[in-house]
Formats: sequence, C-alpha cells, structure tokens
Amino acid sequence: MEIGDALSAIQLKIAEAKKDGGILAGDGQLIAVSKTRPVEDVEAALEAGQRLFGENRVQEAEAKFPGLRPRYPDLKLHLIGPLQSNKAKEAVALFDVIETIDRPKIAAAIAKEMAAQGRQPGLFVQVNTGEEPQKAGVLPGELGEFLTLCCKTHGLTISGLMCIPPVDEAPAPHFEFLRQLAEKYKLPKLSMGMSADYETAVQMGADYVRVGTAIFGARG
Ligand SMILES: *Cc1c(COP(=O)(O)O)cnc(C)c1O
Repeated sequence: MEIGDALSAIQLKIAEAKKDGGILAGDGQLIAVSKTRPVEDVEAALEAGQRLFGENRVQEAEAKFPGLRPRYPDLKLHLIGPLQSNKAKEAVALFDVIETIDRPKIAAAIAKEMAAQGRQPGLFVQVNTGEEPQKAGVLPGELGEFLTLCCKTHGLTISGLMCIPPVDEAPAPHFEFLRQLAEKYKLPKLSMGMSADYETAVQMGADYVRVGTAIFGARG
C-alpha cells in the first residue's frame, strides 16, 4: 500500500476507535514511526499531510529531520527509544517530545540541557508495565518516587506516560494499567499502542499511538 493510503486508512480506524471507546477514548494522535526508513518515506508521509513522527535513535533522527523542518515548520518529532545521557544535548535540541525519561541520570542531563538551551520539549516517563528485566522504563512501584525526583529535584514538568507491553502478552491490561497510573499521578497524556494494537490503545485512552509497520511496511 502507498504510504498516503495507509495513513488515511489508519486515521479512519483511529476515528472509529475513538467512537467505540466513548468517554474512555484518548485523542489518538498518530505518530508515524520512521525509524530505519529512508528520508524519502518521511517526505512521502509529509506530502500526504502527516506531521507527527517518531524516531528511536537520536543520531538517525539528526540525519533525517533537520533538513525537513524549514519546509514543514509544523513538523513534530518524538523520541521513542532509549536515551543515553551523553546524547541529552542533541535530544533536547532536536525533539519536540522526549517520551523515554526513565532514569535519574537522564532526568538530570535533560534538565541541565533544557536550562542551557532554553528549550522546553514535552517530557513523558516510560513505564516498564510488564516488569521485564531487559526492557527500559521505570518499574511501576518506583514511579511515584521517580516523578517526585523529576519535579522536585530537577524542576521538570512530566506531562505523560509511555509503555511498550511485553510482546507475548495481551496489550489491553497494560494499557489499562498505564491509564490508571497516569490518573493516580495526574498526568494528562498517554503514549501507547503500535501497529498491531493501536485501535485498542485509542479505545483505552491513548493520546498518542506509535505506528511504524502499518504505515511504511515491514522493516528490513
Ligand atoms: C518501532 C517502535 C514502534 C512502532 O512499531 P510498529 O510495530 O512498527 O508499529 C512503536 N514504539 C516504539 C517504542 C518503537 O520502537
């Protein structure tokens, strides 16, 4: 399927999911995840009207996006992959939202760079809802303490939560858990749902869904 056609089809499904979800449904803004894709694919999506993109590596995003900004000033870019503190400077300079704050060291590095650059990207905390040892994200039981550290120690405003459920489990309970955590800590935004489950995520409150394969095809 052409990128533009895939985008329209997904937007229709998101609109339906919002209706189905009723009062529980989220905004369902579509983040086109363009990691590993050539800049030509990003341009095709831009020409089709897509403006919100996600990348999981700082360096890859730096190679693709700055050149597009002058032509598409309303383009928005989210960092959805793990961040190393030695890349905090580049991340703060380039991204509009950083969804993967998950360690004290990262919170400190981001705060320092925001002050140095006078830039205020939106910030989400990634939660490891499945408590998987290999996965990034704050453990649910440590979220309260981490949010306090971000806010009180570093003066950061965290506006949402993000999760990647375990691949071998039904995602819905994880989406519901993330929604409850966001409610508990009074965080307005939720980033959850990917190609296989974005409709469920929207029904359950996702304000942002991160979709790659369903837009651009299988990654090589
Ligand atoms: C790659 C990626 C996605 C998109 O995955 P698809 O299955 O291709 O839609 C979403 N979120 C994160 C964090 C990713 O790394």
